[in-house]
Amino acid sequence: MKKDISGLDIYTDTYEDIIGEITSCIESKQKRQICALNVYKMAYIYKSSDFYEKIRKIELLIADGVSIVLLCAMYGYRVKERITGVALFEKLLEKGDAGKWKVFLLGAKPAVIQETQRRIHESFPNLNVVGCIDGYFKDENSVINEINEAKPDILFVAMGSPIQEDFLDKNRTNLNATIFMGLGGTFDVFSG
Ligand code: UDP
Repeated sequence: MKKDISGLDIYTDTYEDIIGEITSCIESKQKRQICALNVYKMAYIYKSSDFYEKIRKIELLIADGVSIVLLCAMYGYRVKERITGVALFEKLLEKGDAGKWKVFLLGAKPAVIQETQRRIHESFPNLNVVGCIDGYFKDENSVINEINEAKPDILFVAMGSPIQEDFLDKNRTNLNATIFMGLGGTFDVFSG
């Protein structure tokens, strides 16, 4: 179930529920975007109507920050489980390993994304990492072409906000991927 707060549909169910939803979208090839809401994004949403419009269109807005869980409570909505971007990323890697999903990694510095790819390969050997591009590219079209040739089930974009949301809002319809997830600095955390 989702709850409407200032026009934003916040996801209030559990990890198990959202992973089930993402899995069935991958199976039926229905595009979905995931965005982890925290207090910084909320502040930017209030500051920028352009950013607000981009966020409002995203189907799966997860309550990453405790502040979002509290905000929901203030509106009388109970978030059954706080879902963080980092934990959902790791759970999707685990699920994808079992299901042999194809994932594409985009974002962060070259050394960070290389280490992220290495650790994913080490811990999730059945997951198919079909592409890996750092977040400081010059030619957006060639990035789009590379993603489209790879046809990932999930495109993880870790370029920080609002860059990742701008990139996905602009290119999502032309991208041959099913699930799109903005990850901020998650690759930096994951690569240790
Ligand atoms: N980044 C990127 N391309 C850019 C700017 C930033 O790939 O043009 C990466 C940066 O290397 C870092 C991440 O985006 O890995 C931003 O992390 P941060 O924690 O600042 O993002 P937040 O989670 O706060 O949105």
